[in-house]
Amino acid sequence: MFRTAEGHRSQRNSTRRGRSGRSGLRAAAGAAAAAGVFLAAGCSSSGDSGPGEAAGGVPVVHQGKLTTCTHLPYPPFQFEQNGKVVGFDVALIDLVAQNLKVEQKILDTPFENFKTGAFLNSGQCDLAAAGMTITDERKKNVDFSIPYFDATQALLATKKSGITSLDDVKAKSARLGAQAGTTGESYAKSQGFNPVAFESSDAVLNGLRTGQVDAVVIDYPVVQGWLKDKANSDQFVLGTKAIETGEKYGFSVKKGNSALLAAIDKAITTAKADGTYNKLYEQWIGPLPQVKP
Ligand code: GLN
Repeated sequence: MFRTAEGHRSQRNSTRRGRSGRSGLRAAAGAAAAAGVFLAAGCSSSGDSGPGEAAGGVPVVHQGKLTTCTHLPYPPFQFEQNGKVVGFDVALIDLVAQNLKVEQKILDTPFENFKTGAFLNSGQCDLAAAGMTITDERKKNVDFSIPYFDATQALLATKKSGITSLDDVKAKSARLGAQAGTTGESYAKSQGFNPVAFESSDAVLNGLRTGQVDAVVIDYPVVQGWLKDKANSDQFVLGTKAIETGEKYGFSVKKGNSALLAAIDKAITTAKADGTYNKLYEQWIGPLPQVKP
């Protein structure tokens, strides 16, 4: 069944963003993700129990826990820091867990799972939180919370390639990369590209860094954080025009799990109303977006 976080923590720490050339470790981490691996969340936990109920009669797949499926790493939404999974999504779901008087527990799963809802349907997770865009295709298999984050795509290229737009990628017959199964990949395909598919956001950025591709299409918030590192901003540059896909992130639950969905929606609504959302946004993402006049 599942392996606990302990055995994999050092491997996974080595695969955090900003590192390169550790493909063996990445492969090991990928294999671990394929099996589904529990990791320490904001609140650590150990041992599994059977299904149960949280406060308010909300059903949970493991008594005393709120089990979250994610796909690591996806900074700043979920990533490992000092052996714990932290980030904006983790913090928001911790609010839900607090209300339900349970602890959040995080399971690293294949990205594909977010489309199919496999780990929700099999009772391995209560919800999925993965900087995941709400799409009609995904809605066929899972139910989404109210949106909690607005995102766009970004084109990121090596400075030396001279690429500043997708037109440049085409004109130069350059190699484009994206994360498999993501909205970034779909967007690139919709524009007539056949991007090289990488397994995680980390792998996409490392693919660019190591010259496997010349440019990538990826969610802007991920790049925003990555470019804060001078070593990255010295070598890589955003496209000149934003790719305004108008995406909205949502958390997903098994189809029909309206009790948990209501608890998630309530936590998001309350956090937005009482200032907690803005505080977490500034903590994990950066300055709040300017309100458009
Ligand atoms: N927002 C993108 C999507 O939902 C990427 C999510 C991710 O890579 N975790 O496809």
